[in-house]
Amino acid sequence: MGMLCYLLLLCLHMMIPCVFSQVKDFVSIDCGARGNYTDPNTGLTWVSDVSFNRYGNVVEFNTTNKISPQYRSYRYFPADNKKYCYTLPTTERKRYLIRATFLYGDSNFDDPYPMFEIYMDATHWSTVKIKDASRVYVEEMIVRAPSDSVPVCLCCASTGFPFISTLELRPLNDSMYMTDYEDNFFLKVAARINFGAMTINPIRYPDDPYDRIWESDLDQRQNYLVGMAPGTKRIRTLKNIKTSLREYPPLKVMQTAVVGTKGRLSYRLDLDGFPANARAYAYLAEIEDLGKNETRKFSMLQPSIPGYNDVVVNIAENANGSYALYEPSYMNVSLDFVLSCLFSKTRDSTRGPLLNAIEISKYVQIVPKTDSQDDAILDALRSLSSKGAWRHESGDPCVPAQWEWVNCSSTMPSRITKIFLSNKVLNGSIPMEIKQMNQLEELWLDGNSLRGLIPDMSSLRSLTVVHLENNRLSGQLPSYFAELPKLRELYVQNNCLSGNIPPALLSGKFIINYDANPGLNIIGGSGHQRSLRFILIVVSGTFVASIILLLGCLWLLRNRRRKSLKSESSEKYDSFRIVSKHSTRYSISRGASLFADENFDVACYISLSAIEEGTCNFSTKIGEGSFGPVYYGKMKDGKEVAVKISSDQSSHGTQQFVNEVSLLSRVHHKNLVPLVGYCEEDHQRILVYEYMHNGTLRNHIHDSEKKRSLNWLSRLLIAEDAAKGLAYLHSGCNPCIIHRDVKTSNILLDTNMRAKVSDFGLSKQAEENFTHISSVARGTVGYLDPEYYANQQLNDKSDVYSFGIVLLELISGRKPFSVEDYGSDWNIVHWARSLLRKGDISNIVDPSLIGTFKIESLWRIAEIAILSVEPHGVCRPRMQEVELAIQDAIKIEKGSKPSSGSSSSSSNVLALHVSFPSSQLEILSCNSSNNMNLPSAR
Ligand code: ATP
Repeated sequence: MGMLCYLLLLCLHMMIPCVFSQVKDFVSIDCGARGNYTDPNTGLTWVSDVSFNRYGNVVEFNTTNKISPQYRSYRYFPADNKKYCYTLPTTERKRYLIRATFLYGDSNFDDPYPMFEIYMDATHWSTVKIKDASRVYVEEMIVRAPSDSVPVCLCCASTGFPFISTLELRPLNDSMYMTDYEDNFFLKVAARINFGAMTINPIRYPDDPYDRIWESDLDQRQNYLVGMAPGTKRIRTLKNIKTSLREYPPLKVMQTAVVGTKGRLSYRLDLDGFPANARAYAYLAEIEDLGKNETRKFSMLQPSIPGYNDVVVNIAENANGSYALYEPSYMNVSLDFVLSCLFSKTRDSTRGPLLNAIEISKYVQIVPKTDSQDDAILDALRSLSSKGAWRHESGDPCVPAQWEWVNCSSTMPSRITKIFLSNKVLNGSIPMEIKQMNQLEELWLDGNSLRGLIPDMSSLRSLTVVHLENNRLSGQLPSYFAELPKLRELYVQNNCLSGNIPPALLSGKFIINYDANPGLNIIGGSGHQRSLRFILIVVSGTFVASIILLLGCLWLLRNRRRKSLKSESSEKYDSFRIVSKHSTRYSISRGASLFADENFDVACYISLSAIEEGTCNFSTKIGEGSFGPVYYGKMKDGKEVAVKISSDQSSHGTQQFVNEVSLLSRVHHKNLVPLVGYCEEDHQRILVYEYMHNGTLRNHIHDSEKKRSLNWLSRLLIAEDAAKGLAYLHSGCNPCIIHRDVKTSNILLDTNMRAKVSDFGLSKQAEENFTHISSVARGTVGYLDPEYYANQQLNDKSDVYSFGIVLLELISGRKPFSVEDYGSDWNIVHWARSLLRKGDISNIVDPSLIGTFKIESLWRIAEIAILSVEPHGVCRPRMQEVELAIQDAIKIEKGSKPSSGSSSSSSNVLALHVSFPSSQLEILSCNSSNNMNLPSAR
């Protein structure tokens, strides 16, 4: 007991100074709160956001629920094209954890759940997607402050409106979270998990003086942490642990852990926003008292990343004793959307692996802010007025949405091209520094009370329009305006300018108005002056009118040519004119990104006329599906495309089409047919896909000529590609995409006979016809999951069923349903299952395959195919498991051993197959294959 007290005192002694030094710099903003208060649970002071943000409205919940006070209200903002920012005070170059949280709650709005963007300065932080109104969504970013403040902005709602519940700023200790990349990258926290947690509640302040949120591994809400190895045990100690290493994980987190009593520890973790480069940390401490001759040594098995298996961890040795922290880390590692951690004890270790906590953060490239000089001049202009909401626009002037009174270039960093401050009660002189805004095209400062001289703007070579009229500007009218090459309009009337007007300004190159400047003289007298101005106005008026006329003619000519092109149909393919239309106005433009996953948010909009040109007015039809006819086309850069035209010409569903397309344009995988672009014009909905030279798998399997060149190994490689594509749709996309129409005609083959899955993600507009099932359950006869058909509950296992049919087609070369082929069975499933149950594979195999395969690899596919078409979805494997089985079969076929993860199960099964026992498929049926039915990653 005495010892315990001593330990507790020691803990407190270690913690308190730290807590106090940290907490005084915490900024905790309760968005929508009526006033400041102290949260009794944490002792933290929360401040209302009224002093941080003057926009938006507040929703308050009338709740009797025991929710933390900071979640009883939120602030929401209009879904317009502006951004709404909170500016957090920081110390330049100090590191901070910045956290934003969102609880939508029972808001009683009819709108769909919100989906919007948050930015940190000009850098995209996250897309907030509310799917569960009762869940608190948390976004955390670790940043090294670039200046003395960091704006956090909400904008760009795709659905609903932007809102926020809390915003928190937590300073970190000097060395914490330091990386070599912090000049260019922020760290977006993807996972911070406390293993062996005592309760489902996360650990945070005051247990963690830095108020990080350590999620409990018991929290399975999101089905977020799955795939736990058998024999995993939770352990706990009350002893003190030395945690003062680099990242200072809290004692309470380190006092619990999981251990793999059977030698293995495994978890699968869904990493939102991945694949990406990441910083990954494991927090380990030996918290069991090991016997004298006992050791705990283990390594991490990461099949996808070579070299990882070689690192052996011996915690006590690495940490210099038990009850001490060891923090193995990867400072820059490329991780997939699903992280599979598998730790395995070494042969000479007596204890299994142990894990206290992990933390994974994604590197997010910092997008440069608007040019700092331009920004400073905007600030100077702002200070000239004390009135108007325009002065309070905050965040970066250009990104993600530009301020109302400026226009910006699309360069990186952005430059200011237009200042629009007419009639804004500006008082004082125009800042001299304006001469540095060398991308400025338009300057509107008219209708204010500006005094003093017109500053030097001779370096602003892009200026086209200058409005300085109706002010109190004095001094001379500068002659440099005559030298600005692009100047079209100069208005300085009604000021106090004096002296002679430089003759060069009256050369007629641009419009000039200098009326009502009593001290201003024209050399040559005022009668001349008026007539000259009259001439200038007439000349420029005539010029503008001729331009309009000329443009009109050109437009007419172009339309005529377009019509005549439609009637001729046999010209050579020309080109597509691609107009890049961003899915939101605020997409981050393509910069020099390190990561392969960045910049995929652009949907290419292709104009109808460009499609007509590229397809030579739709002259080569290559197929027809439920969406409509498909045509061949060729783009300007030579890219060949397949153009699908919707046969549904009604305006109904247009928005849905655009939404779906913008979603699909973000889905990229080498085994998915890429969407090159889309068009929505004149009620025509068109999708443009990459052209796949070898057409559909269906054509190859069911064409007696083609199928000869499709030996067993080629079929396996095609199956592997397609399985990878589908696995990506199921687990790599957020939201996950169920294909709903997996079949051999939706598996397309490129020039090298590698496969890509097509037709995913779009709602089917199929009419009910012979081949398609009614609009209630979507899919194609012969491939449709009977369970989905019966209960309408769609999930990834429906795709697995359909893919099982594809595998049976690959084995047998037969169509999925046919009365002639299967008699009373009529469908491939019953036929194949009954033969395989008898151990008779020779009667299901495609005769054209005879002699081209190894029987074991054929069995491996037959097994997984039959499991995939199990009547109940829960009994079917996941797509990743199907993929693994195919890879096993490929290894067998190529003569190498199947993967270690599956070799034992497969070899058992294979042993049975040698004698073809009649019960072999029962052995693989639902109940005995529980270990195959791993829970979903999300
Ligand atoms: P359904 O839409 O009714 O399910 P489907 O999948 O065959 O049938 P589509 O995807 O519209 O319909 O394709 C029709 C045909 O067009 C295909 O069978 C194929 O021959 C051809 N096709 C479609 N996409 C491409 C492509 N990207 N490259 C080459 N050919 C294609």
